[in-house]
Amino acid sequence: MYNDYYSPDEWEKFIRFSETKETPFLVVMLDIVRQKFEEFRASFPYAKIYYAIKANPGNEVLALLRDLGAYFDVASIYELDKLLALDVSPDRVSFGNTIKKAKHIGEAYDKGVRLFTTDSEMDIRALAKEAPGSRVFFRILMEAITSDWPLSRKFGCQPRMLTELVSLAADLGLEPHGISFHVGSQQREISAWDAAIAKANYLFEWMEEEHIHLKALNMGGGFPANYMNKTNPLSVYAEEISRYLGLHFGDDVPEIYLEPGRGLVGEAGILASEVVLIAKKSKTDLKRWVYTDVGKFNGLMETIDESIKYPAYTEKNGETGDVILAGPTCDSQDIMYEEFKYQLPLSLEVGDRIYWLSTGAYTTTYSAIEFNGFPPLKTYYL
Ligand SMILES: *Cc1c(COP(=O)(O)O)cnc(C)c1O
Repeated sequence: MYNDYYSPDEWEKFIRFSETKETPFLVVMLDIVRQKFEEFRASFPYAKIYYAIKANPGNEVLALLRDLGAYFDVASIYELDKLLALDVSPDRVSFGNTIKKAKHIGEAYDKGVRLFTTDSEMDIRALAKEAPGSRVFFRILMEAITSDWPLSRKFGCQPRMLTELVSLAADLGLEPHGISFHVGSQQREISAWDAAIAKANYLFEWMEEEHIHLKALNMGGGFPANYMNKTNPLSVYAEEISRYLGLHFGDDVPEIYLEPGRGLVGEAGILASEVVLIAKKSKTDLKRWVYTDVGKFNGLMETIDESIKYPAYTEKNGETGDVILAGPTCDSQDIMYEEFKYQLPLSLEVGDRIYWLSTGAYTTTYSAIEFNGFPPLKTYYL
C-alpha cells in the first residue's frame, strides 16, 4: 500500500506517537492545522478567516487558531462559551447558525457577540429584540448539487425574500452588514463560487437601489480536504475565486469573510483503528467483510451514503482485493463502504491497523456517547 497524503516526516511522527496506544483514536497534528491556516491567509490575503469550529472544536485547535489571529464562526452558544473560556474576545466571533433560540441570541448578545447570520423573518425579529443594533449577514439559498456534503435546502432563502428581509432588518434597527452563502461542504467544483458570487453581486446592487449599502460578502466554507477523490490545491481555488470576485464586483469588491471548517482541519487528523474481524458470507464469496473498531457511530458518520470517502491505509503490502468495510456495532447501518470498492491487501489480518486519513473534521463530534457501550472517540493532539 502507498500513502501519499502525508510527508514521510509527518507519517513517521504520527506512527511513533500512535503505535503504543490502544485503538480507536484520532490524532490531530497541530502543525498541519497551522500550515493550513497560513495557507488560507496567504491564498486569501484580503479575507477575514472565521474558523467554523463545529468541524473540530478541540481546545488545542481553538487555542492554536486564537494565537494565529483567526476569527471564529459558532453554531451555538455552547461553542461560544468554549471560545470565551479560552479568552477569545467576543468581537472575534460570528454566530453563523440561522436556526437559534431567541433566548440564546440574547445570551450571545449579553456576552458581547454583535455579528449574526439570518435567513428568516422570525429570526430577524428575534435578533432585533434580543441583539439590538447588531450587524447581520443574510444567507442565500444554494443548490450545492456538486458538493459531497451539500448543506443545501435547509439554509438560506430565495433572493426576492432576502431583499425584503434586509429592508425589514434595517427598519427594525439592525445593521445589514452583507450577504452570505455556503456552496456546500467538500465542494470540488470551483465554479460553484462563480454562480454564488454573481448572485450576491446582484443582491448588493438591488439593495443599493433601495438605499441600503451592504459592506461585506461572507463566502462560507466548502473548501475541500484531500480524500479518495483528489481535489485542486487551495491556491487554485483562491486564484479562481479571486478572479470571480473581480469579474462580478469590478473595483468595488466588498470586505470578504471566509468560514473554512473542513478545509482547515480535515487533513490534520488521522484516525487509527484495528481490524476486529474478517469474514466471508459464503465459501465462494469474492468479497471480504472487514470489520474495524471504528464505524459510523464512533467517528465515521460522514460515510453516510458513502458521501465522504476517506483514504483507508494499512502498512500491510502485497496483492489486494475487494473489501466491504464495516464498523463494530450491532447495527446494520454501521457499514462504511459497500458500493465503492475499497481494495485492501489479501494478507490483512485481525489485529492489523487501518488508518483513516484526512479525518480531522466532523469525526470526533459525531461520535456517539455510549452506543453499544462503546466510548466516544478519543482524541490526541500532537
Ligand atoms: C459548517 C459551516 C461552515 C464550514 O463548512 P466547511 O465545508 O466545513 O468548510 C461554514 N459556515 C457555516 C455557516 C457552516 O454552517
